[in-house]
Amino acid sequence: MVKYLISACLVGQQVRYDGQDCLEAKLNALIENGQAICVCPEVIGGLSIPRRPAEIMGGDGADVLAGRAKVIDTAGVDVTEAFINGAQVALKLAQDHHVSHVILKANSPSCGSQLIYDGSFSGQKIVGNGVTAALLKQHGFQVWTEQVFLDHLKEVS
Ligand code: SF4
Repeated sequence: MVKYLISACLVGQQVRYDGQDCLEAKLNALIENGQAICVCPEVIGGLSIPRRPAEIMGGDGADVLAGRAKVIDTAGVDVTEAFINGAQVALKLAQDHHVSHVILKANSPSCGSQLIYDGSFSGQKIVGNGVTAALLKQHGFQVWTEQVFLDHLKEVS
């Protein structure tokens, strides 16, 4: 039975902006044994692989959803709509599969759930959620970073 929704890059899909993945073998094992499904909100929202890096300017994911902040890429292109579209698809997947936990890649402007980059493209981070993490939390889902989840797995094993 599906219990988890996981960022696609964490299970080995090469969907990051730079065409790479961030494979965590223990998370991919959850896909292989049917306990998890995955999504890349940015790609399913309409962005390409590779694509220019983007950051949230003027707030965090909740601010983007409320129309108070935007997601802008390194060429200055406004990609807010794609980020919101992808978040909505991820939410529908989580709801349709009744997942108990969502495990999303740390620091991403879509998937980050503790810290995100601050919009200056300088590597600085601020406390906040990415757009998808914010939408899922607003709908009652528990969202964990991969490290928090992997630490939890160690504790219970
Ligand atoms: Fe896609 Fe999220 Fe991974 Fe970025 S962090 S590549 S949006 S799954």
